[in-house]
Amino acid sequence: MTEQALLDGKLLYEYKTISAMVQIYCKAHHHAACVDQCEDCQAFLEYAHTRLDRCPYGQDKPTCNKCPVHCYKPHMKAKAREIMIFAGPRMLLPHPIMAIRHLLAERKAAPGKPPVHASNRHLRKAK
Ligand SMILES: [Zn+2]
Repeated sequence: MTEQALLDGKLLYEYKTISAMVQIYCKAHHHAACVDQCEDCQAFLEYAHTRLDRCPYGQDKPTCNKCPVHCYKPHMKAKAREIMIFAGPRMLLPHPIMAIRHLLAERKAAPGKPPVHASNRHLRKAK
């Protein structure tokens, strides 16, 4: 996917983690062909990508669970929760490093207010 090129560092890694989770979830629930995900889950991933790009914390992004900014629309948030609850525990075998990194990040304290102009999108446009 070309969109991926817009993110880097921690944000890109987080996008890869959520993609892997969506694939596990979609395969089990929507029986999409093994390569990709169904249209619905694809739309969710694109949405998640945009949110990552615009996350005001940029590279210091906390895990969404701990984040004081609620940037997801309610129905997207509900879908994200469903995906995490289902795919989270199933990540350990196929993607052990991603799963462990995510668990460790979860243990960090909640952040304060986001910095100004730190989002990936902002930095990207400023280049
Ligand atoms: Zn799906």
